[in-house]
Amino acid sequence: MPTKYYGLIGYPLGHSFSADFFCELFVRQGVDAQYTPYELLSIDELPELLTRVPLSGLNVTSPYKREVLRYASELSSEVKAIGAANVLQIERDSTGNIQRIRAHNTDIVGFRDTIRGRFDRGSLALVLGTGGAAEAVRYALCTLGLRVLLVSRTPRDLDCISYSAVERYLPQAVLLVNATPVGMNPTECICLPYHLLTEQHLCYDLIYNPSITPFLAEAMKYGADTINGLAMLHGQALEAWRIWSESSLDL
Ligand code: NAP
Repeated sequence: MPTKYYGLIGYPLGHSFSADFFCELFVRQGVDAQYTPYELLSIDELPELLTRVPLSGLNVTSPYKREVLRYASELSSEVKAIGAANVLQIERDSTGNIQRIRAHNTDIVGFRDTIRGRFDRGSLALVLGTGGAAEAVRYALCTLGLRVLLVSRTPRDLDCISYSAVERYLPQAVLLVNATPVGMNPTECICLPYHLLTEQHLCYDLIYNPSITPFLAEAMKYGADTINGLAMLHGQALEAWRIWSESSLDL
């Protein structure tokens, strides 16, 4: 079997954990494959990359999770539902010509597996943010039967509330998810009525670096349970590998 090529596209990629994760996985599994991060200044650079490097799979990160869809020939049902992908499965013929590019979203399963079974159907979740990650979380929670309200600085939809309305909904909510980038810089904290949190709440930050964000630190002060984004990160990466290798791994 010839060497397989995988990688990550996005901009910037300085913070990315994927290259180390996949390189270690390939060594552990004895897989002859390479994984390379590619910083693209524009998604328009993707066709040239796919011609230059015989990639079999790509992870896609910010800011291209939506824009990348125009290069996919097939979208999974989840990608169709939320309009964002973080994994491309690239199929080539024996001469290397691309036959099919299928777009997947493994953030959904990565998040869902970390909270499956924790909440009753019909429970209320508040999800901060309205980007691709928030849509993946919303989709995952809805498939588990939770009711979801997104929280936005500029709410536009019926299922979306403003930050000033959080005070009204937080007492009945069981889950509060930070799906914004606020907290990657540890001096920034989302302004919320943290004093309303109790031991009945789970506060989940999709950010994994720093491991305790200001959002999680505030939640801990008021006795809420907390989870950071590390388990989701591993889950979405393993699901990407399952798609690429088309075999489930017991790691
Ligand atoms: P994004 O598109 O850059 O932003 C998401 C949303 O956050 C925006 O749509 C915006 O919603 C809100 N937002 C942005 N800046 C804000 C600010 N200064 N104050 C308040 N709200 C702000 O990000 P994303 O791709 O959805 O990712 C969100 C976070 O999840 C990132 O930190 C990312 O690293 C993390 N993530 C983690 C994993 C994992 O595996 N752990 C996977 C995916 C993403 P409004 O304009 O509506 O307020």
